[in-house]
Amino acid sequence: MIAGERFDVIVIGAGVVGSSVAMALAERGLKTLAVDIDLSGRLSSSEKNAGGVRATWWQRVNIALCRASIEYYQRVRDEVGFRQKGYLWLYDKDTFAGAVEHIPLQRQLGHQIEALTPTDVHCRVPEIDKLDGIAGATFSPEDGLINPNLLKEHYRACALKLGAQFLDRTYVVAIDAGASNVRLQCWQSDEPHTDEGLIRMMTQDGPGEAETGRVFELNCDSIVIAGGAWSPTAMKLLGLRNWTQPIRRQVCIVDNRETNLANYGMIVDTSGVYFHNEGPHILAGYSPPDEPPGYHFNYDGEPFFLNEIWPRMYARMSSMERLRHVTGWAGLYEVSPDRSAIVGRADPTKRVYEAHSFSGRGVMQSYGAGQALADLIAHGKYSAFDASALSRDRFDRNEQVWEELHI
Ligand SMILES: Cc1cc2nc3c(=O)[nH]c(=O)nc-3n(C[C@H](O)[C@H](O)[C@H](O)COP(=O)(O)OP(=O)(O)OC[C@H]3O[C@@H](n4cnc5c(N)ncnc54)[C@H](O)[C@@H]3O)c2cc1C
Repeated sequence: MIAGERFDVIVIGAGVVGSSVAMALAERGLKTLAVDIDLSGRLSSSEKNAGGVRATWWQRVNIALCRASIEYYQRVRDEVGFRQKGYLWLYDKDTFAGAVEHIPLQRQLGHQIEALTPTDVHCRVPEIDKLDGIAGATFSPEDGLINPNLLKEHYRACALKLGAQFLDRTYVVAIDAGASNVRLQCWQSDEPHTDEGLIRMMTQDGPGEAETGRVFELNCDSIVIAGGAWSPTAMKLLGLRNWTQPIRRQVCIVDNRETNLANYGMIVDTSGVYFHNEGPHILAGYSPPDEPPGYHFNYDGEPFFLNEIWPRMYARMSSMERLRHVTGWAGLYEVSPDRSAIVGRADPTKRVYEAHSFSGRGVMQSYGAGQALADLIAHGKYSAFDASALSRDRFDRNEQVWEELHI
């Protein structure tokens, strides 16, 4: 029985971030409940991403959170499908100097990274045979690829083992946050949602009159907003300023019998296209800079492949000439103004916390962010990982944590 029970912490949203937070809270002995409208995550970003993990960021806090996460993923590598095959990142003459400038900080924080010449690139990956426009590259061997679904399930299994609970088909419709108590009004559907029903609810601020279900109340000491690209809805319920924009991002699964990329991790081209081996295929993504914000989930299919992916891949590798589109999908980035996550206490007068807006970095930072936030909630201060640079008041103080590299 959950209705009527009191919790130490309720986490709103159980994607990879909310599930990590739930695990970390349970590890600290807090009675934890995570609620989600769809625990299977059909629209969630955690279900739609490319599985890249790297610590080659420009800002200390982002490097540190990724390093902490990578160290953990190494320990559970088989369970979460972590393959440390590195990140090879190609730069043009306008961007290479910026990448090189940040190598000393990345090394200082314990991350291995080397600078490469275009010839080194070809030696490392002979399939890259057209070197036009490459000024240099970086290779970071400890980075790589993870299975995000296995990672989320791992967090959940650990949380459940420690007594945390997960509530499915449940949407938070109202939040009344006081100084020592937070009351949530939740709506739970009787039936599993259809895809159309879920999209309607997630793009129109919750269940409408026509949805059948029941409303009940939950109480707790603290809440954590971990709603990913839907965190703006929770901010509206709390009367807090929203800093997050949802932006559609698309990836394709493509087929090329002539090229086997299985020995490499993630490769990012000067053109912005990124790709890696994915089972018998290749996963390739590209983020058009003019994509308008909004809750858009439609995948543009073959035209996206033909216009954005294929020309860029063939311009770099001759063997990609006969690349073929197989399938693909669209998901949401949850982008903050400086492209860094928002983590910390959302309201200094109430026990309202947040971990969202990871701006394309939620999988690779999920472990570190969950641990950091759980310390803040349990002990009132950061301990092993200091995430204070990511608190929302940085925008008011104009102390932004800018990441230029990739969006
Ligand atoms: C195409 C693409 C490629 C990407 N590539 C990478 C990558 O290579 N590496 C990387 O680290 N990151 C990548 N990302 C980003 C990464 O996927 C996200 O940062 C991460 O998944 C965010 O996790 P989350 O748990 O915060 O959000 P989500 O996974 O979206 O989870 C939020 C959950 O909250 C629930 N929810 C929201 N509001 C409510 C409410 N009111 N009531 C109940 N439930 C609610 C939702 O149902 C959802 O399940 C990529 C994203 C995309 C779209």
